[in-house]
Amino acid sequence: MSKILIRGAKVLGGEAQDVLIDGETIAATGADLSADGATVIEAAGQVLLPGLVDLHTHLREPGREDSETVLTGTRAAASGGYTAVFAMANTFPVADTAGVVEQVYRLGKESGYCDVQPIGAVTIGLEGKKLSELGAMHESAARVTVFSDDGKCVDDAVIMRRALEYVKAFGGVIAQHAQEPRLTEGAQMNEGIVSAELGLGGWPAVAEESIIARDVLLAEHVGSRVHICHLSTAGSVEIVRWAKSRGIDVTAEVTPHHLLLTDELVRSYNPVYKVNPPLRTERDVMALREALADGTIDIVATDHAPHPHEDKDCEWAAAAMGMVGLETALSVVQQTMVETGLLDWAGVAERMSFAPARIGGLSHRHGRPVSAGEPANLTLVDTSYRGVVDPAGFASRSRNTPYEGRELPGRVTHTFLRGRTTVVDGKLA
Ligand SMILES: [Zn+2]
Repeated sequence: MSKILIRGAKVLGGEAQDVLIDGETIAATGADLSADGATVIEAAGQVLLPGLVDLHTHLREPGREDSETVLTGTRAAASGGYTAVFAMANTFPVADTAGVVEQVYRLGKESGYCDVQPIGAVTIGLEGKKLSELGAMHESAARVTVFSDDGKCVDDAVIMRRALEYVKAFGGVIAQHAQEPRLTEGAQMNEGIVSAELGLGGWPAVAEESIIARDVLLAEHVGSRVHICHLSTAGSVEIVRWAKSRGIDVTAEVTPHHLLLTDELVRSYNPVYKVNPPLRTERDVMALREALADGTIDIVATDHAPHPHEDKDCEWAAAAMGMVGLETALSVVQQTMVETGLLDWAGVAERMSFAPARIGGLSHRHGRPVSAGEPANLTLVDTSYRGVVDPAGFASRSRNTPYEGRELPGRVTHTFLRGRTTVVDGKLA
């Protein structure tokens, strides 16, 4: 391992500094550091952030390697500035045993582009009926601390209560996909004016909000920790705000697409806009942005959901739900949160690195300060860049991005995983 000097970057958007990497570690930060024996990266004007951490990624392996693999997904993650991702459990087979989570963990290690922390399923087969081997997954080499049936809601209140009780013993967390199943039968898009006009099955806000309300109360009753995946409505924000004010141990995430896109886009009938939870209204989008700014929503998580062409390029009702997101997340956050004045870059670092690492129990290795002695997990961003999104250049195996042809700001120029460059000059190393 050699030395790398990042010269003149705005650390967390603050004053320009030099950052010297020696081996896997940040050796020094400050003004006019010696470049002796180091490869120099001229970074004047660029913003240096701690490596991003995604608490919600679908890597599809094992089972759907036609959509994504651990290798292609982590290459996409590195391209987007991530140094760690949490891999959701809805694979085939489901990640509900120590064996499967260890397999995903091992594949992540072999990929070398990004640390992969598996998420374990809450219930066997994501069927919502019987708790899976939560303890065995936690005790495994993968050291699972986050559990989720994401894609499905743990809708049985007794099962949810037991899961919260179980993970409390080792400081784990249940990440809930809040979707009351009976209220969303046949749902195709947000329930509202647009769904009424288009005649598509509506997905009411209350389907999300009722589960969040129930689960924060369960977490309070049990004295355990709950994380709410992909908040999408103004009402969900109000409930989380209330729960936090009451002292309930709840954290919440929002996706980049829910910060930018609305259900008006569904008028195109383009299934690229079909996602779970659905795109909501302008009012919801603004409430989510404000909640992310004031800390009610703790983090941005991508819900990167790769699908092959044949599952998306079909009529709306038949199409799969989900969007890829790893490679565009930081750009969308720059546009919706930084360029609107709602967040500074230190705020972005908190919501896309420090806080997700903390929630997921990775903060001994990721989401660390940019200072001497810390692991060199870093992301360098050219914030002045403007470019049109072209999915042909994606590292992800899938192309289902809602941003094709859109101009978005910002570009990750370099990503460092423990001092090794995974992205150099915007290209995978
Ligand atoms: Zn998901």
